[in-house]
Amino acid sequence: MPNILVTGGAGFIGANFVLLARSQKWANVVNLDKLTYASNLETLAELQNDENYHFVSGDISNLELVSYLLEQYQSDAIINFAAESHVDRSILSPEDFIQTNVVGTFKLLEASKTYWQKLSSQKQQQFRFLHVSTDEVYGSLSPTDPAFREDTPYAPNSPYAASKAASDHFVRAYYHTYGLPTLTTNCSNNYGPRQFPEKLIPLIILNALEGKSLPIYGDGQNVRDWLYVTDHCEAIYLVLKEGKVGETYNIGGLNEQTNLSVVEKICAIFDKLAPKSNFLHSSLITFVKDRPGHDRRYAIDCSKIKQELDWQPKENFDSGLLKTVQWYLDNSAWIESVRSGTYQNWIKRNYDSR
Ligand code: NAD
Repeated sequence: MPNILVTGGAGFIGANFVLLARSQKWANVVNLDKLTYASNLETLAELQNDENYHFVSGDISNLELVSYLLEQYQSDAIINFAAESHVDRSILSPEDFIQTNVVGTFKLLEASKTYWQKLSSQKQQQFRFLHVSTDEVYGSLSPTDPAFREDTPYAPNSPYAASKAASDHFVRAYYHTYGLPTLTTNCSNNYGPRQFPEKLIPLIILNALEGKSLPIYGDGQNVRDWLYVTDHCEAIYLVLKEGKVGETYNIGGLNEQTNLSVVEKICAIFDKLAPKSNFLHSSLITFVKDRPGHDRRYAIDCSKIKQELDWQPKENFDSGLLKTVQWYLDNSAWIESVRSGTYQNWIKRNYDSR
């Protein structure tokens, strides 16, 4: 089984990937995560006795630490999930995004290049650096524009998208300049269990649960493509195993939805779950002032990964949404720990003193 250094594996997609990698025996995993507000180690509690899983608290910008981990665990691959990932936060505080998404990725590339150059030629051919990125790097589409392809020019509009675009360019450059065997995936919006409740779907689920207002930016007609997180994780694993070095792969859900329609679908689920409540959950919908520079539409053309690697999304949006709502209903302790600050105090006690 390969040894993979996963970064950001205590966040939403990274944690889902780590759990699958261990349960499906895809790989032995070392998980390097800085444990920002968006992380939750409780998500990974079931791995605490797994001797082929190791957690390390640390920053991807720490070149020495990353170099040490690559060597120590004889890594066959590195998958970079670590990022500052929330667009609204990037508008308020872009510097954190430059530090982690751009500088951090650069440091990972540097450490990987040095490590890779010292490997035997056989191991060099097997090594992979897989960078997980977003469709937001391509900018915004009008309703009639064709979906983003891998050769769509980059046109990032938010500080988050700009920082991810910059990191993608560095990954590309390390392949072309140094021959480092890199792969990049650009994916649409993910949803599913274990997502921090600042993103649209978990925010709406938790507010609906508490009967609070359901905020939607602008007129609610912004369109996103939604992919169930497990489908994304499986696509990443496939690209890691079979993707052509130096290439990028778009990953999408073939599932364009307006934000309003997503929220209405969640409301309909709650109406069914609580049929005796004396109001329709859609009455909680509130339109709020739009996000500055809010991209109108994202859509992904994922025909390349379908044709070359035979991947396509499996989860249907309605059933995936139902499963997601059910997960949040079943995991109130997880929600409470993320929201109450208990978790942040726990991190402080366990990691800040080291
Ligand atoms: P997330 O915010 O839920 O998790 C990010 C994780 O990275 C957290 O555990 C955090 O502690 C860690 N981290 C942040 N800075 C770090 C640093 N300097 N060093 C080490 N760890 C650090 O993000 P996510 O939604 O799981 O996204 C994972 C990746 O996928 C990101 O690169 C993101 O750009 C990309 N992506 C996300 C989506 C989506 O819909 N969520 C879609 C496409 C691509």
